[in-house]
Amino acid sequence: MQVRQCDFCRMPYQTTGNKICRDCLIELDKDFIKIREYLYDNDGAGIEEVSEATGVSRKTILHLLKEERLIVGGDSSDGGGVLKCEACRKPINTGRMCAACKKEVMHAMQENVRAAAPVKRPKQRERTPEEDNIKGVAKLQVK
Ligand SMILES: [Zn+2]
Ligand SMILES: [Zn+2]
Repeated sequence: MQVRQCDFCRMPYQTTGNKICRDCLIELDKDFIKIREYLYDNDGAGIEEVSEATGVSRKTILHLLKEERLIVGGDSSDGGGVLKCEACRKPINTGRMCAACKKEVMHAMQENVRAAAPVKRPKQRERTPEEDNIKGVAKLQVK
């Protein structure tokens, strides 16, 4: 187990692989269910409206958006400028990165995997000009 800072409440906690502490995880789940219920009947409601109707803070809603549990904007891909790609700052409607940057990160990760475990090929030894010159010269002797 490792101590890290909770992504949500910024308190140190013992992580088991999650980025968020247990208390926040439970709270976020409860809040997410509230929002989901509200959106069943009010599809496409604004962040402000959802926040007021459910009592869930804007911070929580934003966090759920970044976790890709919620999407802003419905059809529009810019999400009304609520979220921005963390790499290129392009407006996005869910998550932390736009599709293009995500793809690049995935690609970079694959590159790293390849670099970390290189395929070993027997390297052909290159002969130096000196070696070529020895050719045909009398037998070598041990001193
Ligand atoms: Zn927390
Ligand atoms: Zn991007």
